[in-house]
Amino acid sequence: MSQDPYKTLGVEKNADAAAIKSAYRKLARKYHPDVNPDNKAAEDKFKEVSEAYDILSDPAKKAEYDNLGREAFYERGFGGAGYQRPDFSQGGFSFEDIFGDLFGGGSRRSAGRGGAGGFQFDRRFGGQAAPKRGDDAHLNLSISLREAVGGTEAALEVGLPKTCPQCQGQGIVASGGGVRSCPTCGGRGQVSQVENLKAKIPAGIKSGQKVRLKGKGSPGENGGPSGDLLVEVTVLPDPVFTRNGQNLSADLTVGLYDLLLGGTVAAPTLGGRAQLKIPSGTQNGTKMRLKGQGLPATKKEAAGDLYVTLKAALPTKLSAEAKALAEQLAEAAPLEA
Ligand SMILES: [Zn+2]
Repeated sequence: MSQDPYKTLGVEKNADAAAIKSAYRKLARKYHPDVNPDNKAAEDKFKEVSEAYDILSDPAKKAEYDNLGREAFYERGFGGAGYQRPDFSQGGFSFEDIFGDLFGGGSRRSAGRGGAGGFQFDRRFGGQAAPKRGDDAHLNLSISLREAVGGTEAALEVGLPKTCPQCQGQGIVASGGGVRSCPTCGGRGQVSQVENLKAKIPAGIKSGQKVRLKGKGSPGENGGPSGDLLVEVTVLPDPVFTRNGQNLSADLTVGLYDLLLGGTVAAPTLGGRAQLKIPSGTQNGTKMRLKGQGLPATKKEAAGDLYVTLKAALPTKLSAEAKALAEQLAEAAPLEA
């Protein structure tokens, strides 16, 4: 039987791995000998379906089948030797082995076998079902500028994909003499489980950078490792400071007299406040630098500076006396404009 595996599984040529697997599972369940005891036709059909899946689930075999076409594939695929059919009749190979793994440890035929994860079934066919690493999961996290600067430990409550505990990821469970779709995961093989995680956000992180939580992504297949959880950090705008690389800038409102006469004012810094000396005659809008008051030094970058832009606050109500004094001042210190 040189079958067309696409036809056997009833999938399109461009079907992806998930569609192929799903089609295979459906048919494997249908023709499962447990469901069809002493039914030779069903058993043959099951072998055919298994062979089709053996070809289409292996990227190398599938590519060769696609390239060579049906006849050439069976004749001279795989280094000219032709396609090697999985042999169902060879010693040591029993349906119990297949179904024990295919249907998880709960099947009555495989009582006593550990619930081995993955399709050992496929491995019997030459190890095509290589361990596959799970997909990475993604999560966005917003933090304040201060948290970004000082580093923080963020508490995350996330729904993470886990291998279904009931069916061990197979999507089906034993039921009576046969099998049925796993009621816990609805046949998907995975369930979402809320987990409380702590993500260490390193000091100096910037918007768009990611923190990787190893092994917290989707579970792997066939014994492969889990993917990672990638936490993408967004640093929220700060009400006081604007960040520019390692430097910070902020506006600071000071009294007109501090600019006019000079004085010492308190400037906001990330750590609290710093004394800022203003020389007499400082212009409105002057930018002053507070060295080292920007972002702290990291392994790669030196500490940044803080630039404070001075904004003059003017008195709003002038008494007659104050007006007279201002007029005197205007005469004594005329503007050079
Ligand atoms: Zn399940």
